[in-house]
Amino acid sequence: MNKLTSRCSFTQMTLDRASNKRKSDEWISAQLAQENCQIIPVWNTSFIFVESHLVLLQGEAKLKVLSSDVTSKINIQEKEQHLIFLGLNDAVPIFAIDISSVEEGDLANLFGDSAEPIHLRAALGLINHEQASILGFANNLLYWNKSNRFCGVCGTATQTNNGGHSIVCTNKECNKEIFPRTDPVVIMLIEYKPESGPAQCLLAEHYRSADKCVSTLAGFIDPAETLEQAVIREVKEEVGVNVFDVEYAKSQPWPFPSSLMLGFYAKANDPAIQLDDDEIRDAQWFTADEVRSFSNWGDEDENYKLPRKESIARYLIDTWLEAN
Ligand SMILES: [Zn+2]
Repeated sequence: MNKLTSRCSFTQMTLDRASNKRKSDEWISAQLAQENCQIIPVWNTSFIFVESHLVLLQGEAKLKVLSSDVTSKINIQEKEQHLIFLGLNDAVPIFAIDISSVEEGDLANLFGDSAEPIHLRAALGLINHEQASILGFANNLLYWNKSNRFCGVCGTATQTNNGGHSIVCTNKECNKEIFPRTDPVVIMLIEYKPESGPAQCLLAEHYRSADKCVSTLAGFIDPAETLEQAVIREVKEEVGVNVFDVEYAKSQPWPFPSSLMLGFYAKANDPAIQLDDDEIRDAQWFTADEVRSFSNWGDEDENYKLPRKESIARYLIDTWLEAN
């Protein structure tokens, strides 16, 4: 595997998703009853760490160790609604449980005084790429389960199914089954080759980023749009540049909460920029030598800063630099 590819977060999933087996409630129950079963508690999109180690609960037995106060807040009768199957790590079943109903002050009672809920983004420095992929999956799927408590067709309450990988309307006349959503986002590095001189790439400062942090352009796909059309439309909308030769590069799950980043390269013939003032603070063309002189995300200097090394934006920039 290319070293730039392996650096992207959330792309190193090692779990066997057991997609066919998890359809059986009996099989899910049997996994949960296994002594080596591991359950990852998730609290409001944060994971629990004790002295930088990720907290895992082990099996049904440990779940029952939760104090009666906490189990009542988790509402154990509806535990199935809060528990999802992620996959098998070798033969070890891995689940995640949503414990967001626990008060923050009660987390210490459950996990000890040094327990700290850490948001997945901030936890990336504490975990390896494989763990990040598993936690990202948990974050994504639990969010989806939480946001689909009611049927979108008839408004009746839904019930989780398939180990948390589908949801069924409890109104028997409707009976609609809903599957997890992934929201596709195109992210693209645009290149311009002047008649003389080196090639340039387009990097932008987004309003949502700190000053001098530059990155590629990106945007959600519209309904009934191809990926290539989305690249062309987003670049036109954000910086007023017409692009062509849209070429797929790589993808990265982005579980905040449920995006899939789809990376592209594209070319421009005319470098004139017209900014969309709502989204972009500044956008400029830079040569490879200029980009190589930039600082890294998190550096505290006056220089331009490149995106985080684990991001697909940085992958697109670094592979372009390798070619230039
Ligand atoms: Zn329904």
